[in-house]
Amino acid sequence: MNPRTLGRVRRAGLLGLAMLWAGWTPAHGQAEGELSLREIAPGVHVHVGAVDEWGVASGGDVANLGIVIGERCVAVIDTGGTAAIGQALKAAVRRLTALPVCYLINTHAHPDHVLGNEAFVDPSGKGPQVVGHHRLPAALQVRGPFYLKALIRDFGPDQSSARIVPPSLLVTSSLEVDLGERRLRLQAWPTAHTDADLSVLDVQSGTLFLGDLLFRDHTPVVDGRLRGWLAVTAQLRTEAAPLTVPGHGQPTTEGAAALQVQQRYLETLQADVRAALKAGWTLSQTVQRTPPSSEPWQLLDAFHARNVTAAYAELEWED
Ligand SMILES: [Zn+2]
Repeated sequence: MNPRTLGRVRRAGLLGLAMLWAGWTPAHGQAEGELSLREIAPGVHVHVGAVDEWGVASGGDVANLGIVIGERCVAVIDTGGTAAIGQALKAAVRRLTALPVCYLINTHAHPDHVLGNEAFVDPSGKGPQVVGHHRLPAALQVRGPFYLKALIRDFGPDQSSARIVPPSLLVTSSLEVDLGERRLRLQAWPTAHTDADLSVLDVQSGTLFLGDLLFRDHTPVVDGRLRGWLAVTAQLRTEAAPLTVPGHGQPTTEGAAALQVQQRYLETLQADVRAALKAGWTLSQTVQRTPPSSEPWQLLDAFHARNVTAAYAELEWED
């Protein structure tokens, strides 16, 4: 992010944000099956997913989803872990505005963020422009069939018509899109959480959607490159926005601090695995003997051993 732009956003938007923040309460009067939304800045709505695994217990509703409304049209940021969640998100947009959705932006390839795409784009391709990192199509091509198999296995055979909707507008470094008097600045990152991470800044409100480049509460998941993620985390800390939306966990006005908490987990993981390699431990010894960091992360049982395994494979042959 351009520091000068950020300065302007800060001056113009902080008071309004603080006021909205103070009155920010969970949705009430919500009908069954409706997606809960919070307006975290004027025209910026977020659905906060459960801190849980993508599976039948959570209904696949674990990723944070965003809606940004301009004068001309709407952008949706990630679409949820099933087509039904995508449908609920689409219905939520309809309740907010009659404007069309012109951009569907995916922050990365993981199923909890992309499987709702099909609710917005019909099989003939009619619908909003789907936007992603330039490596997202390849990631979805390789992983997509496994995600669909897991969906049918875990959620049941009625998911057999689910499809992967890849992006058609690709971001190689950065790209600005206009929703009508409202610009979104998209940034494609080097390999970090995954190899296709994209962030989205709403310039008007200073709201930065980081996708899974930032986890809060939910244990961070290494599926790209640990050292790359640490580098991106350090850069993001210097460019913190007034309001940050992680891929999992609550939005925050303290983005830099949230990134620092995540950095501590990733640095501890890196140090522990390097020490294990130096001591000549095997992978299984390292997994057994590398306890999770003492930070108050949820879902450590589900993800920490997997992170140790990914870090071991990455760091084993480092210079
Ligand atoms: Zn992810």
